[in-house]
Formats: sequence, C-alpha cells, structure tokens
Amino acid sequence: MVLYNFTLSTPPTTSIKVKFTTYHFNTQAITHPHPRSNSKNTHIYCMCFCNPYICEHKLKTMIKITLPDGSIREFEKGATPMDVAKNISEGFARNVISASFNNTTIETTTPLETDGSLTLYTWNDTEGKKAFWHSTSHVMAQALEELYSGIKLTLGPAIDNGFYYDVDFGDHKITEADFKKIEDRVLEISRGKHEFKMRSVSKADALVMYKDNEYKTELISNLEDGTITFCDHSTFTDLCRGGHIPNTGIIKAMKIMSVAGAYWRGDEKNKQLTRVYGTSFPKQKDLTDYLELLEEAKRRDHRKLGKELELFAFSQKVGQGLPLWLPKGAALRDRLEQFLKRAQKKAGYEQVVTPHIGQKELYVTSGHYAKYGADSFQPISTPAEGEEFLLKPMNCPHHCEIYNTKPWSYKDLPKRYAEFGTVYRYEQSGELHGLTRVRGFTQDDAHIFCTPEQLDEEFKKVIDLVLYVFGSLGFENFTAQVSVRDLDNPDKYIGSVENWEKAEQAIINAAKDKGLNYVIESGEAAFYGPKLDFMVKDALGRSWQLGTIQVDYNLPERFDLTYKGADDKLHRPVMIHRAPFGSMERFIAILLEHTAGKFPLWLMPEQAIILSLSEKYENYAKKVLNLLENDEIRALIDNRNETIGKKIRDAEMQKIPFMIIVGEEEEKNGTISIRRHGQEGKGNATVTIEEFVSIVNEEISKTLKVFTV
Ligand SMILES: [Zn+2]
Ligand SMILES: [Zn+2]
Repeated sequence: MVLYNFTLSTPPTTSIKVKFTTYHFNTQAITHPHPRSNSKNTHIYCMCFCNPYICEHKLKTMIKITLPDGSIREFEKGATPMDVAKNISEGFARNVISASFNNTTIETTTPLETDGSLTLYTWNDTEGKKAFWHSTSHVMAQALEELYSGIKLTLGPAIDNGFYYDVDFGDHKITEADFKKIEDRVLEISRGKHEFKMRSVSKADALVMYKDNEYKTELISNLEDGTITFCDHSTFTDLCRGGHIPNTGIIKAMKIMSVAGAYWRGDEKNKQLTRVYGTSFPKQKDLTDYLELLEEAKRRDHRKLGKELELFAFSQKVGQGLPLWLPKGAALRDRLEQFLKRAQKKAGYEQVVTPHIGQKELYVTSGHYAKYGADSFQPISTPAEGEEFLLKPMNCPHHCEIYNTKPWSYKDLPKRYAEFGTVYRYEQSGELHGLTRVRGFTQDDAHIFCTPEQLDEEFKKVIDLVLYVFGSLGFENFTAQVSVRDLDNPDKYIGSVENWEKAEQAIINAAKDKGLNYVIESGEAAFYGPKLDFMVKDALGRSWQLGTIQVDYNLPERFDLTYKGADDKLHRPVMIHRAPFGSMERFIAILLEHTAGKFPLWLMPEQAIILSLSEKYENYAKKVLNLLENDEIRALIDNRNETIGKKIRDAEMQKIPFMIIVGEEEEKNGTISIRRHGQEGKGNATVTIEEFVSIVNEEISKTLKVFTV
C-alpha cells in the first residue's frame, strides 16, 4: 500500500490523500469527472480511494518523447508512434510506415510506456523500406499457402531491395510460370487493407500452432517462453518478431524476382528449401523504375564491360580472384596511377616500394597476424632455413619499417610515404566477385607520419586530394562520415584520451572547413583511431564507400616509432592511412559501372579512332595518326577491309569518344571529319587537325584540372 499526496489545481483546490493498492492498479482505468472538480481532465488519475468517496479515475502519466531533431514532446502514456506522427502533422502521419523506439524496431501501433527516443520512418528511409518488404513477405507467404496446399513456411526476412521467403514446397514445384498468379494474389490480399497486429503467445501454444511444421518448431524451441510473438493480418498468422507497416493497403506493386534453392539454416546437411525472392513498392511507377535500373545495372556490370572493352580477364589456371590486366586495362591503370602520382608529388608525398611478402614476425608485431592470420593465406616457408613469410596483406607495417630506418626530428615531419602496393587477402571462393572482391589487389596506399599538432593540417590536405580525385573522375555526389569513439566504452580504445579528442576534433574541423556534407557516427571508430569515410553515389544511385582516411595510434606504438620533439624528448608520431581510390581493382570496377565505360576523355584508353573510307587513304590516315600522337592524343587506325558503316558500328561498341573519317576530300584539304560517340544522326564536322586537338584539350580541361596545394 502506497500513500500519495496530490494537489488539485482546478477548483476547488484541495489537498487529498489517496491510497493506491495493487487491486486498483489492476482495474481498468476509467476517465470520468473528478467527483469534486467538475473537470474531466483533472490530473490525478488512477484507481484510488479519495476521502470517503471511492473515486476511480485514470492515472494519466505523461511521457517525454524525444524526436530525431532533438525536440521533446509530451504524450499520455500509451500513445502510439502513429499518435506522435499525427501530432507532428496529419500529412506526415500518412507517410509514416514504421518506427523504432530507443533503437528497437516497434510497430506503429505499439503503445509507448516510457520516456524515450522515437524515430518515425517513411518509405524514403532504409528502415521504412525494410518494414515494407518484411510485411510484404507475410502477404506473399499467405498467398503461397493459399495457392499451394500443405507447404511449410520457414523464414522470410527483408533484404536489400526486397525480401525472400524460404519455403518447403513439398511436392509442389514453382517456376517462373507461377510468378504472375502469386503476384496477383498478393496484390488482391493487399487491397483488403488488412492491419498487421502483433500478439504474445506462450511457447506451448506456439508449438501447437506449428505442430506440423518442423522448421517453425525448431525456431520456437530456441526461443524463450514469454518472448514469442505472432503477427496476424487478414486470415494469416506467422511467427514474427515485429516491424511492420500499418496495413497491407500501401503495397501497390509487387514482383517475384526469382526462385533459388536454399538449405534450411544455410547448412547443406539440411533439407533444401525453395527461396522465393520478391520486391514490392508503394507505387507501380517505383517498380517500373526499379526494373529499368536493374536492366541498366546489368548493361553496366563491370565484368561484362571489362570483357567487351578488353580491360581485364580471369584465368582458372592462374587462380580465382586474381585479375589479369590486359594491355588496355593496364594502360588505364597506369594513367590513373600517373594522375594520382602527379597530384601526390605536389602534395609532398614520396614514392616508396616494398616487397610482396614479409616475415611472419612483421605481422605479429603489427597485430595483423593475431587478428587475421588463421583466416588468411598461410605462411610460406623457405626450404632450408625454415623462415616463415606471409603474402603482404597490408602495406602499413612495411612503411613503418621505412620510417624506422633513421631518427627523425619534429622539424622533419610530416613524412608522407606513398606506394601503389599490391596486397593479398584470402576471400572464400563464394565471396569473389569480378574486380570488387578479389584475392590480390593494388592499393593506392600512403601513410603520413606527423606530430599530433600537425594532424589538423594533414587531414585537410588529404581531403583536398580525395576531392580532387572525385572531381577529376566525375563523382559529384558524395557524403562523408566521421567515425568517433563510443564515449560509454572508453576501454575499447588505445591511445590517450587527449590524443583522441585532438584527432576527432581535427577530423571534424577539417570536414567543416572543406564544406563536406558529413555525419558523425559515435562508436564507429576503429579501436586504434577515428576516421573519415566518403560515400559516393554512382550514376545509378548506388552508394560506394571510397576514400577512407584513418588516424592510427596503434602501429606507431607497436613499431616503436619516435621523433625528437622541440623539448629534445622522444615522442610518438601519429599515423594516417589513406587511399583515395581504395584499390585500383575496385575503383576501376566502380568507375566502369558509374560511367558505363565512357570514362572521362583524359582517361579513355583510346580517345580517337581513324577510319579510312578505303585503302587509298591509308597513308593519309597514318599521317593524321602521327600528328595526333605528337599532340599526345591516343588514337588508332581501323584499316580493316570493312565498310565504313561496319567500322563506325564497331568503334561505337568500343565507346571510343571520337571517330575520325578520312577520304578524298579530307586528304585534298588536309582536314578530318569527326563524329562523336553515341551521336549518330548529328552529322560529321570537318575540322583541321589543330582544331581537333584543341577540341580534345578543351574537353579534357573541363574535368581534369591541375592539382594545386
Ligand atoms: Zn513480421
Ligand atoms: Zn595502412
């Protein structure tokens, strides 16, 4: 029994003593006028004994809801995320499809019982899409159950761009021919605007419900009684943790993308199920756009373009995940390397070269061996001495040893060592993918060793370089993420608090100073230092992480790096790892998909192709080629005995930016006819060689600027 004192502020103002008992808390709360105050909303508000009267009124506790913008609104305890959305605006509420409370996904109808942070999601948020797709997987499961009797449902999560459901179809077999009828049924159910409702179920009841489904039985068996929930909509029920859209009515477009085999729980010893992949959207047009995007992505697949443009290849004999760069690809890489080397030279970097292997001890010192040793390529040992070497997984330890070759004074710093260093990392064969996941790749690596005071300036300089790279290669759309410590877990990090504060501030200052569009993510820093990542959006709207700048307090410690300070004492330098491209392989893959192979003119393997109208003009074609080469324009001659139409079509396929056509007229006047790639029907322009050279140079100068510091 608890005694409370309440003061009624509405007239008549009296002080009343109320006694709460458990019994009264259990009673259904009722809102009714307070017996002595005429007001319905008088505050006290519970089942209580008031004086001689038994006054039963609701305990209206208010809760404070913090929204993502930091604003706080008060609601009655029990308000739902949808109530909060409506309180913000009715228009906004119509778009809200899911919610999270204190970082846990909840339903938009879940009553909020405590103070906390609420995030409301719409279709435009990743979390909103996840709820949308997960909810559609329930509807698809319902449709499948209706269409194929006796099937057993297992798991149906949301994934990137959609969802899947793993189903034991028993004797049924589904093929592409079945997709349409499933899709139609999903949309028919959706139109019923069925609400998704969560309910708790005891373990015993849950097991009864799924007594004929060994998969769900296994899932339920691993859950604790009291934590099991079902989700109901329409006539369908599924075991589910939650996170749904308000009702099925907002699913307006749905498509089954494919079916594939999938072992139960991913274990090949288990039964093979059928994984049905689907996607869905709130508008038909969104689905149409998505399917078009997929087609375009297929056309731009770097593996396909790499083959067509003869840039790189793989050989089973050489080994999977080990790209072979063909002449045109090697030339492309070389141009990218030269481009960055020129800028780096201006930025004060010095090139170094280190071997492809290093003694095991080197990576024991760096800590890489302890962390990755078992899951990587195993040591190579020498036949006689029994020395052990590892394929180089990172260049940093080597660069630390370069730093250690002589003593440094603070006046010598910063030292900036750059290397296009090839490293080898083991990836499982199933993980390998074109040039984006390989086992051997070349990083455009560099390590900067500086004093803590220089960090600010160095960071800004690295950002300048990264922005220069993005600008020259046509990546205009990017954001940055600053990853800092989790202040609640200080033990996770090495290095002094003072240094961390300095470094985090240096990164934030640099990001601000350079006008970056950045977010700060706490707890995302590596244990050895904070970092800045760039997320670049490509032409298809996909995000790629490019250009990480990482501060490191760990390796200087492990390699005992020092410099003599102004105080004549030895100090630890700070190390910055940075790679604007990341790796040449991955960068070229992204660039291929971003540009569809139409690289900026300065980077194209061939900038022009000379097509002679017949053999008679071959000498003139050679003369043109010579003149272009004198002006450093990369060109070649197509002197095959083919029609000009065929030669043009092939040059178009090769995506060569300029076609130069030479015939009688041109030879007579000392001119050339030029035609741009992808602009058939626009007619050819007749120009002199000098004019053509300036057209090319002018276009190059639009994207490729000179790097200045
Ligand atoms: Zn669910
Ligand atoms: Zn490094």
